[in-house]
Amino acid sequence: MSFYVTTPIYYVNAAPHLGHAYSTIACDVMARHMRQRGEDVFFLTGTDEHGEPVALAAEREGVTPQELVDRNAPRFRDLMPQLNVSNDFFIRTTDPEHQAKVQEVLARIRDNGHVYEGVYEGWYCPRCADFKTDAEAGEDNTCPIHRTPLVREKEDNYFFRLSAFQDDLLRLFDEQPDFVMPRHRYNEARAFIESGLQDVSLSRSTFTWGVPVPWDSSHVFYVWFDALLNYYSALSYARPGEDLTDRFWPAQYHVIGKDILKFHTVFWPAMLLAAGLALPEHVFVHGFLLMSSGPSKAGGEGPELVKMSKSMGNVLDPFAIIDEFGADALRYYCMRDVSFGQDGEVSTARFAVLYESELANDFGNLASRTIAMVHRYRGGTVPSGEPDRTLAPEIDALVGEVCALLDRADLTGALEAIWLRVRRLNRYVEEQAPWVLAKDEARADELDRVLVSLAEGLRVLAVVLHPWIPASSEKLLATLGAPELDLDGARLTAGRLGAVDKLEPLFPKPK
Ligand SMILES: [Zn+2]
Repeated sequence: MSFYVTTPIYYVNAAPHLGHAYSTIACDVMARHMRQRGEDVFFLTGTDEHGEPVALAAEREGVTPQELVDRNAPRFRDLMPQLNVSNDFFIRTTDPEHQAKVQEVLARIRDNGHVYEGVYEGWYCPRCADFKTDAEAGEDNTCPIHRTPLVREKEDNYFFRLSAFQDDLLRLFDEQPDFVMPRHRYNEARAFIESGLQDVSLSRSTFTWGVPVPWDSSHVFYVWFDALLNYYSALSYARPGEDLTDRFWPAQYHVIGKDILKFHTVFWPAMLLAAGLALPEHVFVHGFLLMSSGPSKAGGEGPELVKMSKSMGNVLDPFAIIDEFGADALRYYCMRDVSFGQDGEVSTARFAVLYESELANDFGNLASRTIAMVHRYRGGTVPSGEPDRTLAPEIDALVGEVCALLDRADLTGALEAIWLRVRRLNRYVEEQAPWVLAKDEARADELDRVLVSLAEGLRVLAVVLHPWIPASSEKLLATLGAPELDLDGARLTAGRLGAVDKLEPLFPKPK
């Protein structure tokens, strides 16, 4: 089976921030998990590089748009190893192969009768690169997201006949109730469609930084149509000399933030229908990580929550966390503290609490004391006896649970299921008190069973946790002498482990 997962492509004007890291980490967890199941996985991320905001920024800086994007794109490409993500390709929408594919697909949409020429007049937010209907425009014609004035635009455009796809889209939503996940986002997208779809601009003619419209050189494609097609175009050239489209299209998951819901759940499926291409299985819409803006105001109101994004100027620096605690700590925290799919508050204080209580204490200490006991009581070799039968059912059920949860992209629920077992093994240590067994030679078999159960349990946890904390997982599995990551092996088994190494703390206290 193939599994294709995509992040949104990141707008190249911005500096990477926690929001980018969040989407990317989530996709990486899904991709790594599916590889552990033996699926044929392709994981795509990249940068969105066209559009008016780039042209304007380049003009302000006195460079060409190409120079600007060439300078900024590496900040996102370099983000991937910093987060320890395993993307299979990094697409840039200025790649010539992408641009050619955009022209090919949009020409087909025109040939299929879904494009016409007209005049656009209405509101536009240059920062969103999005046209706003009168209903969407905020107070005094400001952008509801940026709170900056909207621009009144009047220009010759080619239009995409979105309105013609209203019934098709409603049928799609009926037939594929998990096309948009989670459910409240499905409802939001559906309500947007039911409110009545208007045709949308497919091209712009007031600037030139975009993919040229092949049938009219005075236009470039509207940046969203160019950007959305990255998910499709990348497969045709990600591997030199090979076309992966048949192998991976359609995507299983597009993971996006809620601010780009309309484009992915309405425009994108309509475009694919218009081009005669297969639709993705799921668009998963995650929430925003929210940050308290500071001390509460006088008058006793709670702290104000604001969207954490560069354009709002309230940024939690994920790089500081990576520098001090490592990428695993950031990855774990992002997936753990806010239920994936919901909005939720994050803070450095909560990060510190979870790092210490869960990573350092629950899991890190379980690993340290288990390995230490194998060295202290059995000379560094895991005994060969059978694991404890009272423990096996609960530990062995974990893989099935995690797979079922990941099938619904419940990345937070899966961590909770795993943590139930982390806590179970910690209780097991206290219940069995191996330090007492070790004092009684007659109970050597019991001690063997406890040690093999703990070491095997630890191995299972390290395998299942790998997608969230890959570096720590690999370090622990190497220490155990069992580097295999496939989920089939994530069960308590006898005789799999032998000599173990020493283990430095997996999640050390900050310096
Ligand atoms: Zn805006």
